[in-house]
Amino acid sequence: MGDFFERIVDLDVTAADASALAERMVDWMVSRGWLLRETSRDAMYSLQVDEGYVPGPDWPQLTREWGADWIPGPVAVIVGRHDHYPGQGAVEPASAVCPHCRATTVIIDYPEQWEADPAVWQPFSDAIDAWKRTGTGSATCPSCATPSPVTTWQWAEGFAVGALAFDFWGWPPLTEDFVTEFATRLGHRIEHHTGKF
Ligand SMILES: [Zn+2]
Repeated sequence: MGDFFERIVDLDVTAADASALAERMVDWMVSRGWLLRETSRDAMYSLQVDEGYVPGPDWPQLTREWGADWIPGPVAVIVGRHDHYPGQGAVEPASAVCPHCRATTVIIDYPEQWEADPAVWQPFSDAIDAWKRTGTGSATCPSCATPSPVTTWQWAEGFAVGALAFDFWGWPPLTEDFVTEFATRLGHRIEHHTGKF
């Protein structure tokens, strides 16, 4: 087991639908023998939930081969509008791509800077907060001046906002086939990334 995770975030589901969709996804994975109904708090560190579903006997079908003695940790199912970070600290995304004009807005100017430019980040941060509170929030692109919902911006690697997320704790890398099938089942756009606690 380890302190790393692979995360799939549903970018389009509404908070109202997230619970039912989460249940359907868990039912599906339990029916395939990939997860058990049983939950555990061991070896997982998701910020929003403190227990996850224990892997089922057929979990190796979902991952690359990492040796027969590997035991993955729980899968946390996170329902609700959240901003998801790739690590323990809430480090802002380094950049964001406008869904309208595809221009990249630099938020943290690595390697010259190690923190977000407050003037650049604040409008994004405010829009994300509004989305978390109400379900809608748009950030205006500095390049084309078009406002777009925060769930449609393409954030730099490891950051995502969405109302349903799945954290696979300590699993060997998930196969592309599984991630594709998972997204098809969700029926929405997804963000898929790895992270470390
Ligand atoms: Zn733009």
